[in-house]
Amino acid sequence: MATKIIDRIMASPSLPSVPSVALRVLELTRQENVSVNDIADTIRNDPALTAKLLQTANSPLFGLAHKVGALEQATVILGLRTVKVMTLSFSLVDAMRESQTGGFDYQRYWRRSLTTAVASRLLAQHCSNVRTDECFVGGLLTDLGMLAAWQCVPEVYGVVIEQVTGTPQPIQKVESTVLGMTHAQISTALLRKWSLPGMLCDAVSAHHGDGMDALDDRTRMLASVMFAGASVGELFCGDVDVRKLEVVKQRCVELVGIAADNLDQVFDELQADVCDMASLFQLEIGEPISHETLRTQAMTQIANISISAEMDRAKAASQAEQVQQKLEEVSQKATTDGLTQIHNRQAFDDELNAMLARAQESGSSLGLIMLDLDHFKKLNDTYGHQAGDEALRRVGQCLKDHCREPAVPARYGGEEFAILLADTTARALQTLADYVRQEIEKIRFDHDQHPIQFTASLGAAHVDLELEEDTTAEDIIERADECLYDAKHHGRNRVEITF
Ligand code: GH3
Ligand code: MG
Ligand code: MG
Repeated sequence: MATKIIDRIMASPSLPSVPSVALRVLELTRQENVSVNDIADTIRNDPALTAKLLQTANSPLFGLAHKVGALEQATVILGLRTVKVMTLSFSLVDAMRESQTGGFDYQRYWRRSLTTAVASRLLAQHCSNVRTDECFVGGLLTDLGMLAAWQCVPEVYGVVIEQVTGTPQPIQKVESTVLGMTHAQISTALLRKWSLPGMLCDAVSAHHGDGMDALDDRTRMLASVMFAGASVGELFCGDVDVRKLEVVKQRCVELVGIAADNLDQVFDELQADVCDMASLFQLEIGEPISHETLRTQAMTQIANISISAEMDRAKAASQAEQVQQKLEEVSQKATTDGLTQIHNRQAFDDELNAMLARAQESGSSLGLIMLDLDHFKKLNDTYGHQAGDEALRRVGQCLKDHCREPAVPARYGGEEFAILLADTTARALQTLADYVRQEIEKIRFDHDQHPIQFTASLGAAHVDLELEEDTTAEDIIERADECLYDAKHHGRNRVEITF
């Protein structure tokens, strides 16, 4: 796949070629004893290029005090290397101008390439062992492979663009998957085909940080500046999260050894220089972001993140509260009798076992009252089930009102209730049972205009666990039940107790 794609790109009729004027300038600058006039004569063959080089010599970017009108003068002032680099840059940018329309965002591409080039140039001004114009052209050409791939094999590169849109994946990763190679490799192949200097080709090939170690010192420095420049380009063109501002700065410091203060200066100058370069190259790149804007955006984003993290935390806390509330509701439901709203049988059993265990351990006493409504079947039969239900509800409320803590009332089943009382005396248990019996006797309500009232029989068992350590829950229930049976037997609406 990799060879196929690169072969197709290289053989494509859409592949731009370096204009002959630029090739000739390159060739001349390689020769020793080349004269300024030879170079100027060659450039003059291309009027557009001539105009651009004069503009370059007069641009504040190159820091000249006097206006330059003649090409020879411009060549002297700019220096042969800069003339060579700018000739090459102008020619290639012209050759690569938008030709394939469709999914490729040319404006964005040129904005990033120019920003990378200008950032590389500015960074290079603070580094030794590297030339600023080489860094500029290197930065400008690093991503040329993208453009070449789009112009020569748009149906394949279109897939890369589609896949990379809206994903945080770096483009070189998607390219490796789809094309079997990265744009850095395509750029390198292209530059070699155009016989550009080997050092530039090697540095472009390593501009994502791959294979840096194999390069000689000068080429490695060039590649490092271009790598740093590319990171700055991505950041200033919105291709990476603005919150990475500090990460990118740190990367620049590590890669090119620039001091933090100087780096801030580079970032401050970047926007204006990019605009100047865009006008020299006559490229539409939209409005580049300033360092100040980037800094503000980064700070806002970081602040937003902490606000949203705080909101997430608050939401999680309120969710936890809701879950806890739900759990409490569920557990309340599981232990409460629906009709009477007091403990159900399950809760009664659990409570009795727990109280018994505590009483056994501390050698204290325990009381249980079993309560059964008298002739309840008759009440149901006479006034209906609804009346019976209302009577049960009233009993539940009555027990709630009069059996306060530590007494625990529960519905034992049907029209039978139970009251547990821990650590009590037989007398206190008797008092509570009498009191409850009287309160139930007092209950009155109307059903279908019939006044309803009823009574209850109660059997109570008092156990001293210090004396009867082995008493079980069943034993206690049985004793209270026996008393209840006695209460029924002895005429109902009464209390019988055993201790
Ligand atoms: P005793 O005085 O001997 O206890 O007589 P009783 O009629 O109260 O006793 P019995 O065991 O013969 O009848 C209990 C009745 O309680 C029968 C049943 O329909 C009624 N009952 C049980 N649970 C409910 C209930 O949830 N709602 C209503 N309305 N009635 C109930
Ligand atoms: Mg009964
Ligand atoms: Mg009954």
